[in-house]
Amino acid sequence: MKSLKKITKYSYFIILNIIVIFININVFNSVNAGPKNDDLKEIEICCTWGEALDDGILTFKITNVKPVIKHVVKAAFYDWEQKIKQIKFQEADYNEKADITISFGSDNGKVAGQTITNFDSNGFIYSTKIFLAEKAFTKKLTNNLIEYLAKHEIGHALGLGHANFDDSLMSSLVYNINKKIDRCEIEALKEANNWKLVDNSSFPKLSKNKYYVCN
Ligand SMILES: [Zn+2]
Repeated sequence: MKSLKKITKYSYFIILNIIVIFININVFNSVNAGPKNDDLKEIEICCTWGEALDDGILTFKITNVKPVIKHVVKAAFYDWEQKIKQIKFQEADYNEKADITISFGSDNGKVAGQTITNFDSNGFIYSTKIFLAEKAFTKKLTNNLIEYLAKHEIGHALGLGHANFDDSLMSSLVYNINKKIDRCEIEALKEANNWKLVDNSSFPKLSKNKYYVCN
């Protein structure tokens, strides 16, 4: 009963991923195009990091939040780092501009997490901004849920779209707090940033695939 209640409650938390295209509108259009087979488990490939990823390091900054929550978000970065060995996440210095910025807003009632992606003129990601909430629907979110949301939004920040199956970290609805970064998310991310994570090239190359099919 308790878990059923939880499922009902969390199903209202629609994690909205708003992708703002400042320069290259084609990238956004291509994300929504292409065949989609609902019988297959798939994760959308949204975007590819550009030269910011060339050194294998993405810097981040966490603002507007208590140290304990900051620690929760850092744990989410650490988990991704353990899974994707080719990317190191480094906290940016106070005056430095970070590749990934995470800030916490007050309860806006509906959205628990949101990622805004900025692209350069060639369609590569050059920075992302993640917004997380400490409260939603007037209720304080648990640290577990915040860590889950942070991992999900970091997935977007790294180039993933949503999964078409519920038990994925990248599912757009929170049916259960699945915090696990699985093989499918890892492989989809490698596909998105193939030039660096697979080829280890110095020349960014956009991913041709719009979906990663999980076997
Ligand atoms: Zn999302």
